[in-house]
Amino acid sequence: MKCSDCPRFCQVDRQKEKGFCLAQNKIVVSKIIENFMWEEPCITGEKGTLAIFLAGCNLRCSFCQNYKISHQLVGDEFSPAQFRQKLESFCLENYSALELITPTHFSSLLLQAFEGFDCPIPVVWNSGGYENEQTIEKIAKFVDVFLPDFKYSDNTLANKLSLAPNYFEVATKAISTMARLKPNIWQNNKLKQGVLIRHLVLPQNVQNSIGVLNAIKKEVDRPLISLMSQFIPFGKPFDRKLLPLEYKIVVSHAKKLGLNHGYIQDLESAKSEFVPKF
Ligand code: SF4
Repeated sequence: MKCSDCPRFCQVDRQKEKGFCLAQNKIVVSKIIENFMWEEPCITGEKGTLAIFLAGCNLRCSFCQNYKISHQLVGDEFSPAQFRQKLESFCLENYSALELITPTHFSSLLLQAFEGFDCPIPVVWNSGGYENEQTIEKIAKFVDVFLPDFKYSDNTLANKLSLAPNYFEVATKAISTMARLKPNIWQNNKLKQGVLIRHLVLPQNVQNSIGVLNAIKKEVDRPLISLMSQFIPFGKPFDRKLLPLEYKIVVSHAKKLGLNHGYIQDLESAKSEFVPKF
């Protein structure tokens, strides 16, 4: 079958060939962390998540903080049945949620793995926002909470940093589809179902952030957002960190638009110790 799991539509037969993401017919797991507490409180709850870091990515941003796992496909390989067995080997009730991190390029395989699996905790889809509507509609059968990035409104920047010249249109449609399929449902201050949209403010690109916030306001009813400042330039796309003034302008714009439902990260979080080690 030709792969159209993501908007790159490589149309390769993954049994024999590789597309942009390099993934083939096995789910590749880079790392599993139990009681992972790095996400927003409505996701981690009191117990933390069971976080499954999938290897590779369909974006491979040049500034990725997890570049050691996203820019190569290194890890343990699982067929969908083996992945399901791996999930069943955990006592899932011990976690607030089951988190799939960078899962987009394994969508079809994960759909098979979750077929008929009654997960006792919310399944969180932590993705880069570069996804197609048809795939989202399929995976919504087993995903409870979408946790997408909305990285760019500036497609020139998207092309330069992620080789995705249509990112803005694709992510806008993807996120509005997620919001349509999964309205927010809360339980004990935790998101039992819904969408939390993340945006990382990049240095020297305030207008990119303003465009993202405007699109969120336009496309999603009462959006839950997470504004992030934790940019540590691992690659060399920018020659400095985010300035306090840049972040302040973006935060002020979010408030002006009435996007006051969610989280605003403290600028002080932009320290390397906040980046998980792999
Ligand atoms: S999931 Fe991978 S192979 Fe499939 S369309 Fe996307 S980048 Fe190409």
